[in-house]
Amino acid sequence: MRGITVPPVQAGHAIGVDLGGTKILAGVVARDGSVVRRHERPTPQDSQEHVLAELESAVAELLDDSVAAIGFGAPSPIDQARGVVVRCVNLPLENSPLRDRMHERFELPVGLDNDANAAAIGEWRAGAGRGQDDLVMLTLGTGVGGGVISGGAPFRGRNGVGAELGHVVVVHDGRPCQGACTGHGHLETYVSGSAATAAAREALGPSADAHRLVRLADEGDERARALLEEVAGYLGSGIGSFVNVFAPQLVVLGGGFGVAAFDYLHGPAQQVARREALEPMRSDVRLAKAELGTAAGLIGAAFVGFEALDTG
Ligand SMILES: [Zn+2]
Repeated sequence: MRGITVPPVQAGHAIGVDLGGTKILAGVVARDGSVVRRHERPTPQDSQEHVLAELESAVAELLDDSVAAIGFGAPSPIDQARGVVVRCVNLPLENSPLRDRMHERFELPVGLDNDANAAAIGEWRAGAGRGQDDLVMLTLGTGVGGGVISGGAPFRGRNGVGAELGHVVVVHDGRPCQGACTGHGHLETYVSGSAATAAAREALGPSADAHRLVRLADEGDERARALLEEVAGYLGSGIGSFVNVFAPQLVVLGGGFGVAAFDYLHGPAQQVARREALEPMRSDVRLAKAELGTAAGLIGAAFVGFEALDTG
């Protein structure tokens, strides 16, 4: 007599939490990437303990019996061996053992990743990169975040601190980088929303910013279009180098500025990237707009939670 095959228990949901500089976005996410419910709350700015307490509240508010794992995305390099948030640029969170603390509190598997890695995982699992085994994602916002999926798995480098694609050099000894970064000529200083705002102010006056730049380009303003084309050139140089290193099938552009300016950036950036990339990668270079919007980080964080569940 044949026995009854009991399928392995595959609990339905994970909670994904995207810790941002101003908001904590959290949601209950199914294995197919759909968000069952979500909420957001402001990110406290005053102390590490307050940030951690709000993260706990965000999880507690969503927790039910369907939740089998929790994942967090944080704007910081992550020490994967210790489960530690190393240092957030814009938040009072440093050397914080987030994984152990959340595991002790909720007694569920907990995954932790950099926010841009989480966004890349979100787009790979449930957005523009579905079905692709090799992709690079760049999030153009206040800074430039990067994430890489290589051979059907997230690439994280030693200890999980990669891939900081916004901090590759595109101009030797160029503009000083932003925030805590001591580098020069990094991609971030030429293609982030902040960089576009700085360029817009210089060319169009103090009230201009990156979003006004896109609006003006929409209205046919030649100066605005020329500035965006310049940004696209630097972006294409960076992408050409990433294509030569990672040989992706797809490069996904996300982040507030990356999505808003996509129509102006993707053509010229693709042209420059193709010029810089070698065959056979050159023929494959394809840029796509991120599809998940602001939910990419929390959806990706939930998949980091599923990863902790499946490998733990
Ligand atoms: Zn930098």
